[in-house]
Amino acid sequence: MPRPTSAFAVHSPTSPFQPWSFDRRDPREDDVLIEILYCGVCHTDIHLARDEWGGASQYPMVPGHEIVGVVRETGSGVTKWKVGDKVGVGVFVDSCRHCGPCRSGLEQYCEEGMVTTYNAFERGTQTLTYGGYSTQITVQQDYVVRVPEGLDLPGAAPLLCAGITTYSPLRHFGVGAGSKVAVVGLGGLGHMGVKFAKALGAHTAVLSHSPSKREDALRLGADEFIDTSNPEAFTKHVGRFDFILDTVSAVHDLNAYLGLVALDGTMVLVGLPDPMPVGAFQLVGKRRRLAGSMIGGIAETQEMLDFCAQKGISADIEVIPMQQIDVAYERMLRSDVRYRFVIDLSSLK
Ligand code: NAP
Ligand code: ZN
Repeated sequence: MPRPTSAFAVHSPTSPFQPWSFDRRDPREDDVLIEILYCGVCHTDIHLARDEWGGASQYPMVPGHEIVGVVRETGSGVTKWKVGDKVGVGVFVDSCRHCGPCRSGLEQYCEEGMVTTYNAFERGTQTLTYGGYSTQITVQQDYVVRVPEGLDLPGAAPLLCAGITTYSPLRHFGVGAGSKVAVVGLGGLGHMGVKFAKALGAHTAVLSHSPSKREDALRLGADEFIDTSNPEAFTKHVGRFDFILDTVSAVHDLNAYLGLVALDGTMVLVGLPDPMPVGAFQLVGKRRRLAGSMIGGIAETQEMLDFCAQKGISADIEVIPMQQIDVAYERMLRSDVRYRFVIDLSSLK
């Protein structure tokens, strides 16, 4: 018995969101059915809804991969979850489970390709996946994480993508006490990057092209705010940072930011504007590294949520009804998000 589900969808790269309904699959033996309470709005939702990645988008599209909710039903073989559990679902809902990355808890780098929460086909089928701008979702139990007690549900939703995407590279590249970190772009990802870099003990700067965010950056815990709309930023701070986390969503001059990386330092791209040319001299001259990083695996996502509960970390959010989604996108495109929009799905009921 398929499950009729209310949602908001886009039907083309240029059309606004519209109410839409579709059927979720009935929970299989190892599935859980989750009532979605909140879903964060990621800039990736905008890139995909507007087909900014060269034809990668499938329509109708129901975006949303920062999902928190409550388990309402479990399949007969489900061992990990029970009805009433508070859970989260992030950027992917399946992977091959047998390749090297999957077996190492790096499902996001699955050699057969992770199945993303929306805009992908369920493995071996032509069935499109639909995301969290909807009232419920059926997910295989291994791709669900627990939202620990003590984390506020709407503030936890953005942790499922913005949180893990910034936590994972900071941990992987060994950021800690004594590190000098700069986070580029104070949006959804960036503000979580600042919170995590500080919680890990690093000296943390924000590199932002919005001078109006200075006070917020300091309130979020940053030790300094550097206004990149002033060209002096790129001459005054040359070679100062061991680690730069670049979360910018729009094309920008990577070479200018690379100049701020120290000898043997690393700049990690998590933002996904493409393409952006890189000059060899900017890397070679100071043995700098330029790397990328994509979300995090299931186990690391759970580790990050537990870390947040322990340290009292959650996202700074603005809760919106589903009907405000087009306005939220326009505001994000103007860098006017403080610092994550979270949809309250009760607005669809
Ligand atoms: P967001 O909330 O819209 O924030 C992006 C920030 O980038 C803005 O707030 C702004 O910060 C800065 N920015 C925007 N335009 C700029 C420009 N022209 N020059 C310099 N800075 C600019 O976006 P988000 O949700 O954090 O996502 C950021 C990017 O990460 C997106 O491309 C998204 O697709 C990608 N992403 C990647 C992963 C992954 O796994 N790697 C996961 C999630 C998202 P200031 O106003 O402070 O300058
Ligand atoms: Zn995301």
